[in-house]
Amino acid sequence: MSEVVIKRRPSQRVKVGKVVLGGGAPVVVQSMTNTDTADIEKTVQQVFELAQAGSELVRITVNTPEAAAAVPEIRKRLDARGCDVPLIGDFHYNGHRLLTEFPDCAQVLAKYRINPGNVGRVREEADPFTIMIETAIRYGKPVRIGVNWGSLDQNVVVRMMDENSRLPQPKDVGEVTRAALIASALESAKRAEQLGMPHDRIVLSCKVSEVQDLIAVYRALMQQCDYALHLGLTEAGMGSKGIVASTAALAVLLQEGIGDTIRVSLTPQPGGSRTEEVIVAQEILQTMGLRAFAPMVTACPGCGRTTSTFFQELAQRIQSHLRERMPEWRKQYDGVENMTVAVMGCVVNGPGESKLANIGISLPGTGESPAAPVYIDGEKAMTLRGDNIAEEFVQIVDDYVARKYVRKSSS
Ligand code: SF4
Repeated sequence: MSEVVIKRRPSQRVKVGKVVLGGGAPVVVQSMTNTDTADIEKTVQQVFELAQAGSELVRITVNTPEAAAAVPEIRKRLDARGCDVPLIGDFHYNGHRLLTEFPDCAQVLAKYRINPGNVGRVREEADPFTIMIETAIRYGKPVRIGVNWGSLDQNVVVRMMDENSRLPQPKDVGEVTRAALIASALESAKRAEQLGMPHDRIVLSCKVSEVQDLIAVYRALMQQCDYALHLGLTEAGMGSKGIVASTAALAVLLQEGIGDTIRVSLTPQPGGSRTEEVIVAQEILQTMGLRAFAPMVTACPGCGRTTSTFFQELAQRIQSHLRERMPEWRKQYDGVENMTVAVMGCVVNGPGESKLANIGISLPGTGESPAAPVYIDGEKAMTLRGDNIAEEFVQIVDDYVARKYVRKSSS
């Protein structure tokens, strides 16, 4: 892997349960469930799957009394399954009421997400934002002040548009809206601190759905504060569009050292797994050389020399196998996440790429003799033939992991 020279932006360290954000800590991957939180069984299962996939924080919607009442039981069942991933409560409109009426929910959540544009109506006797911040202070919880383009505090927008219209040369609407997003986040953070919230318990985010807007907003935001920043392109979309847009935006900002935790907001395909957003987030960080989560498979794209689908099937099978084994390997072995495996389609680049990986296989292309040399740590170790090449190669990978990566002494 190339040496990483990314200088991280200095940011405030924030503890969210067992996880540290900012202050130079590795960029944290988080995700969000899409189950009805009141459905305890489904939510527990999805949080568990997200955590198994490597999500280090999981956010759940807390939108109704039933959802708030379910949160302590969700926590209990996750703990019983040995899953201690911190849960973040996502509140809109009625968070102040739910946090007040369900103290056990307020207690077991590791962080509250507060959207200043959606905190609910301000009544004389009870300002919802104040209630949520005071609750967080009482329970010693950090908060994310999460501003969103689609639910921006209209008081801030109107005020800033008015101010802009009085300028001799007014700025364009997009620029003012971006400034309003940042102002909403910073003014809310300032209010939270005035209410007694410690500086090191505040995380900020300003999410938008366009790549260039997100880059511009975070570049400006990081210059105006040292809060830990949650990074994500909101409503990124489905499939390749969502993945590409998120990667484009996050990669630019991460390369500039901006972002302490990331979420990739993908719309799952019907029936698709929610864990895809975790895998994409991990792969963004891993391909950029910022963190390692799971062994990476180098596979060539295939061409006219790979006329059968065997090569694609093997690459897919190895990738899935590595992902499936990772939760167990993570507990047993040190450094296995740095392993590289090459699955190549023919002799042209096969041996070369295979030698560069920890383990590589060069499958026979069209017209080559039906033999697949396997390379281990740069040396040709064996040649596989026959109908069981896939099974044998998977076994070679498993044996290599057990041999190469030192078994952790505990846990
Ligand atoms: S390694 Fe061989 S099969 Fe793969 S893309 Fe290159 S030439 Fe084609």
